[in-house]
Amino acid sequence: MTTTQVRAACPLDCPDTCALLVTVEDGVATAVKGDPDHPTTAGVLCTKVSRYTERTYHEDRLLHPLRRVGKKGEGKFERISWEEALETIAARLKPIAERAPEAILPYSYCGTMGLIQGESMSSRFFNKIGASLLDRTICAMAGFTGYKYTIGGSIGTDMEQFQNAKLLIIWGGNPIASNLHFWTRAQEAKRNGAKLIAIDPYRSLTAEKCHQHIALLPGTDGALALGLMHVLIKEDLLDHDYIAQYTLGFEELKQRAAEWTPERVAATCGITVDEVVDLARLYGGMAKAGEPVAIRTNYGVQRVRGGGMSVRNMACLPALVGAWRHAAGGIQLSSGGSFPTNKPWLQRTDLLKKQPRTINMTTIGDDLLRPASAAFGPALEAVIVYNSNPLAIAPDSDKVMQGFMREDLFTVVLEHFQTDTVDYADIVLPATTQLEHIDAHTSYGHLYMMANNAAVAPMGEAKANTEIFRLLAAKMGFDDDCFKDSDDQLAAQAFNAQDVRAIGFDWEALKQKGWQKLNMPDAPFAQGGFPTPSGKCEFYSAQMQADGLDPLPAYIPPYESVASNPELAARYPLAMISPPARNFLNSTFVNVKSLRSAEGEPHLDIHPDDSAARGIAHGDMVRIFNDRGSFVCKARVTDKARAGLVVGLSVWWKKLAKDGKNANEVTSQQLTDMGRAPTFYDTLVQVERVAA
Ligand code: SF4
Repeated sequence: MTTTQVRAACPLDCPDTCALLVTVEDGVATAVKGDPDHPTTAGVLCTKVSRYTERTYHEDRLLHPLRRVGKKGEGKFERISWEEALETIAARLKPIAERAPEAILPYSYCGTMGLIQGESMSSRFFNKIGASLLDRTICAMAGFTGYKYTIGGSIGTDMEQFQNAKLLIIWGGNPIASNLHFWTRAQEAKRNGAKLIAIDPYRSLTAEKCHQHIALLPGTDGALALGLMHVLIKEDLLDHDYIAQYTLGFEELKQRAAEWTPERVAATCGITVDEVVDLARLYGGMAKAGEPVAIRTNYGVQRVRGGGMSVRNMACLPALVGAWRHAAGGIQLSSGGSFPTNKPWLQRTDLLKKQPRTINMTTIGDDLLRPASAAFGPALEAVIVYNSNPLAIAPDSDKVMQGFMREDLFTVVLEHFQTDTVDYADIVLPATTQLEHIDAHTSYGHLYMMANNAAVAPMGEAKANTEIFRLLAAKMGFDDDCFKDSDDQLAAQAFNAQDVRAIGFDWEALKQKGWQKLNMPDAPFAQGGFPTPSGKCEFYSAQMQADGLDPLPAYIPPYESVASNPELAARYPLAMISPPARNFLNSTFVNVKSLRSAEGEPHLDIHPDDSAARGIAHGDMVRIFNDRGSFVCKARVTDKARAGLVVGLSVWWKKLAKDGKNANEVTSQQLTDMGRAPTFYDTLVQVERVAA
């Protein structure tokens, strides 16, 4: 027997981007473990990816191209050859590409985070066609935008420093489920005497293990941040020297923050005055005493109308107290902006003959149903889905389903499994998993460039996304040299080797070692140097004003809340959020039996007061509904959900739920204040008991 160990990288939408060691015995991957030498992975993987071989060798893997033989949504297919599949697709796309190229839409996201199997050859293909562009804003763009206005880019505290913090505020995230290796460091900080505070409407696994949990109402984080500023300024818990040297607009901020008394903030957030004041005193007081204080925020806070502004407000806090002076101080939303990727080359944006329109992936439900018009352009006629599962993950799911049901829509799906979306495909193409192809990765949690080597040969007739788009390009008659680049050639250009951050980047060396840290300072803004237009942390942002936004930190209430829409709240009085279930990653892994068993079945956490008012007992089946739709699941009566809040951990495949629906039946297609992002956690519902 030949046994080898192959260096790989986790492809999933998780900030940790773990370094993997894949054991291969006679051509079969038998184990996936964390690389003990990689500093952030440290030999540990989450349960999900420890089971990655179970997923790769799953009996339901799609192994051959398929053609639909049943009705859309029925999921009935027949096997066809690659030649037939590619010919069929090219024959359908060519006339559309000649007549109205924008009627073709790629739909993809972070099914893989890889630079190569994500948007490289695929983008070249769609750019050559002149297809509609996709606004890939469904996860991070609101927070990214708010953070960028303030800090200048997605750069923050290095993950490898958090264990040295003395106060850690975990704001809008559940790292035990979705940022495990940060949590390891948070625990180390706790052992070293740090205080951990969770800010989250829901008492998540993480919140339960922190010293304090502040359970504010969804969508009110921006108000809490303003309240903290108010107390910091009023009680002079400030770093005046840092403010004077490295920030812009303090006097204007001072006036704005004065409006946000702790009483007003407490009423807005549904918390106590003491919670506001005590947190500010702790944060500012420790910083003033020279202790490193850090905020780790995540994307939970920004899935509401004012999500971008909330993150902007939070991003102002470290500069007020001078927390950036310490390597273990500051704030991290994402480290993604630290990487000098070479996306224009990977994606060959120069292939575009003119700038096509952009379709937002959050509004795919409405956009698939939109007729041609002067404002919209041509109706969508063909959608090619890869690295995504819009039927399960996109909001306002009934509209998405209606759109994909259109008989005149030609749908191609590249997938590993027969997901909810595959059921609506005309042609299905089997794609490789991370163990079967090569890729290069950045991270949005740490600072390492990562390489993924192919550990095993593709299963069945599966092909890598890059190869599929190469073959499709050939069938379309595209003969540009860029469609001949191999995956290794693509990966070799993935990072800008001349950039000082990636100095010494060499793909062959990266493949051998698996990872290489960027050349970044430990404390990125200890002496200012913010990549904003002013070079300072911008409390006042002229760019925001130019973009039609409030140039100062502000509070933007949710679209749907008791305070902001009492008429709607009279009918639908409960706020609903749908954060990630621990054993799933978005909609990936839901079909892996051992992980699904660990989650049990779809359920809704509801506070005892709210369940009692509705005659709902623990374990009852309930219907969750609003004007957009409804879904059914089992009630868990628990005070983990604060009163007035219900929580449906997600994202379940619809076809595996009792009523064939999931939480996205009730979420909306409304967009955030900035960044054109979704508002999944800005949702009012009513809940009623139904027969089991
Ligand atoms: S999902 Fe996250 S924690 Fe799990 S292996 Fe991948 S990167 Fe690591």
